[in-house]
Amino acid sequence: MSGDRTNLLGLARAELEAFVSERLGAQPFRARQLMKWIYRRGAADFSVMSDLQREFRARLSEIAQISVPQIVTTQVSSDGTRKWMLRMDEVQGIETVYIPEPDRGTLCISSQVGCAMDCSFCATAQQGFNRNLSVAEIVGQVWLAQRELAGTHTAGPPAAGPPVAGPHAAGPGMAGPRAAGLPAAGLPATGTRADGRTITNIVFMGMGEPLANYRNVVPAMRIFLDDLGYDLSRRRVTLSTSGLVPQIYKLAEECNVALAVSLHAPNDELRNELVPINRKHPIGELLRACWHYLDTQNGRSITFEYVMLDGVNDKPEHARQLVRLMKGRPAKLNLIPFNIFPGTRYRRSPTAAILRFRDILNEHGIIATTRRTRGDDIDAACGQLAGRVNDRTLVRLGSKLLNASDEARVR
Ligand code: SAH
Repeated sequence: MSGDRTNLLGLARAELEAFVSERLGAQPFRARQLMKWIYRRGAADFSVMSDLQREFRARLSEIAQISVPQIVTTQVSSDGTRKWMLRMDEVQGIETVYIPEPDRGTLCISSQVGCAMDCSFCATAQQGFNRNLSVAEIVGQVWLAQRELAGTHTAGPPAAGPPVAGPHAAGPGMAGPRAAGLPAAGLPATGTRADGRTITNIVFMGMGEPLANYRNVVPAMRIFLDDLGYDLSRRRVTLSTSGLVPQIYKLAEECNVALAVSLHAPNDELRNELVPINRKHPIGELLRACWHYLDTQNGRSITFEYVMLDGVNDKPEHARQLVRLMKGRPAKLNLIPFNIFPGTRYRRSPTAAILRFRDILNEHGIIATTRRTRGDDIDAACGQLAGRVNDRTLVRLGSKLLNASDEARVR
């Protein structure tokens, strides 16, 4: 029967207000009380919501639920990074990663089961694509991480090893009104800010292409920004995209969060090979969309991600080409040492090559940083997330676009 009940997780404030008014004849402030319980206190059970009348709670539990994904495994890296595999349905699994640092805690979330973008250096691409995540499944990752982190009783990074927590049962009743966001005793020593938050930043850098699931990703981000939701500022929510140009224009108008763009190559020939969506939206078009995005945002910069692949895109000439693309623009380059995964033909660039590359950029006034690899001992680093995907697309984007350009050439 639970399938008939409306899942309140992920409903926009206005939707929740409409729900309580239409289905329960209640005032809008009831919706605001519910949001505080769900997001601030991490409640999944109406019975703990002590400022709501008993009758109201009973009626609520007949027609509504707070349903979150189920945790299949939890892994903890030697550096404190945590990775959860979450069950989405009978066969599908996705991954969510928490990265604690001294001054912040970043949650890296997934937007799709698998990915159809087919980037040649990414483990998720090898899994193929199954489906988009719903708003509740996206928001549910944050909800779960918040709950799990509030229940962490270790001071500092625990030892690496196999999954430390077995299957959890999910469902109403398990969560209780945890004081997520409060400086609870026993929170990890890292990843907590002075105001006690454990999750200070959310990045769409897990599995999937968020702009290919625009419909659900944008409402989820609104919950992250809502002061009755996770109350994060726009610059602490980052959407990373392989470059879906029309959606970048749309996002600029509708939900102007921080933008990261997976560039990975300084010219179209190479980018066509590494990031196949480039055959549809080449670099010139992509960068125009990026600069437009910034124009609507009053100034901040865009981060361009650049995976360092040995002998492929890491030569000084590539750095000089990047300088020509970025010169005078509010752009930051984030150099990501390639993370290997089984079956890949690529190798990580040697550290010396990465430093030389960074120096060339810096010497020409382009801010470039090197991303520190986190959680690679538990396959939680960038591009290593594979989850459990039952590929339903069979035809990958790369081959589709190749065929399309072949056809164009024939004509
Ligand atoms: N689809 C989004 C989010 C993907 S993951 C996007 O393309 O931006 C976040 C970042 O990790 C992207 O920049 C992605 O290109 C990068 N990445 C993928 N595979 C990687 C690997 N094996 N090593 C290092 N970074 C990788």
